[in-house]
Amino acid sequence: MIYDLDFTLSAGPVMATPRTQAALGKPIMYHYDPEFFATFRRVEKKAAQVFDTKNQIIIMQGEAILALEAAARSMVTPGMKVLNLAQGVFGKGMGYWLTSFGAELHEIEVPYNEAVDPQQVEEYLKKNPGIEMITIVHSETPSGTISDCGAIGKIAKKHGAMTLVDAVSSVGGLEFQTDKWGLDVCVTGAQKCLGGPAGIGLMSISDRAEKHMRANPNAPRDSFLSILDWYDKWLGQERFPFTPSVSDMYGVESVLDQVLEEGLDNSIARHAASARVTRAGVQAMGLELWPANEAITANCLTSIRLPDAVNDVQVRDHVRNRYGVMLSSGQGAGNLVRIAHMGPSANGLYPVVGLSALGQGLRDLGVTVDVGAGVDAAMTELATQRGGKK
Ligand SMILES: *Cc1c(COP(=O)(O)O)cnc(C)c1O
Repeated sequence: MIYDLDFTLSAGPVMATPRTQAALGKPIMYHYDPEFFATFRRVEKKAAQVFDTKNQIIIMQGEAILALEAAARSMVTPGMKVLNLAQGVFGKGMGYWLTSFGAELHEIEVPYNEAVDPQQVEEYLKKNPGIEMITIVHSETPSGTISDCGAIGKIAKKHGAMTLVDAVSSVGGLEFQTDKWGLDVCVTGAQKCLGGPAGIGLMSISDRAEKHMRANPNAPRDSFLSILDWYDKWLGQERFPFTPSVSDMYGVESVLDQVLEEGLDNSIARHAASARVTRAGVQAMGLELWPANEAITANCLTSIRLPDAVNDVQVRDHVRNRYGVMLSSGQGAGNLVRIAHMGPSANGLYPVVGLSALGQGLRDLGVTVDVGAGVDAAMTELATQRGGKK
């Protein structure tokens, strides 16, 4: 038992495997040690594989949010028309950034339990010529919904618009094809489906986006937020703009190795399988999924609508304190609780642990739920996946 906590089933940072923990504990090196140089180069190559891209990889030395802010600041030119797709907390937040960085904001917003229909994007672009970029959140983690990034990427290409994609909670666990979908700037973190440390932002950047940043008078330079500094100093002169987070880089290399050894497709299938187990249990228990329909649920977590009698933070804290299981609250998306099956927790019995702790916790708080029926349905689904009858 670690700090009275038995299971971390949160929506990121997530639990790490012993191999990841061991990598994070390796001796700290000087960043100009040839071995660290080699590590950095290897991480770039392995990140390109999980992004499924030939585009340039830039590794930002901070939480994914740093890479997202850097991307938005570097891409937004004064008065640029940007179409922001807001179907949740992260999408809405991107819109505030775009405005404050000087964009002319265009926005398609839907309720936070729905997803933007690619058809709406197509129609918006037809009616509003001159949109230069579309900003998309692939997996809206606080609400557990997914957007059809593949279809939207193709529509953007057709209309000549660039794309900036927040793929923080999808890369490694959900299908994500940077090149096939024609995406320009993509950002992910290590602490979600990859199961790594929360301290590094991985980005892929197309040639077109790089050219655009270079021509942007507002793109940060000589700044912690500067992507161009990484191009010019690190890629151009093998000089770090500042000292990288050495230990976090070990952790990131380890999680990339683990996902590539497992096989990206196998990792994606594992997340989907755990999602099916969890959803079966939630519904059999008599609870309701938060997303408006199952087609838009993100496979890295299950978000569950709570009855008005209880609130999300109360439920999360109660389940943590009484049963030692860490779930996630709605983080502003609504009165919902989230069982994540993300990274190492997208496996075997973890969803069943989450379901039983949540179900019993809700009963403690006076909500009527059939915990037994939920566990039964989840176990039946798990047994079927493993090739047998329960
Ligand atoms: C986790 C996450 C981020 C990173 O933001 P934090 O608030 O630092 O965790 C960004 N976008 C999405 C979709 C995420 O899930």
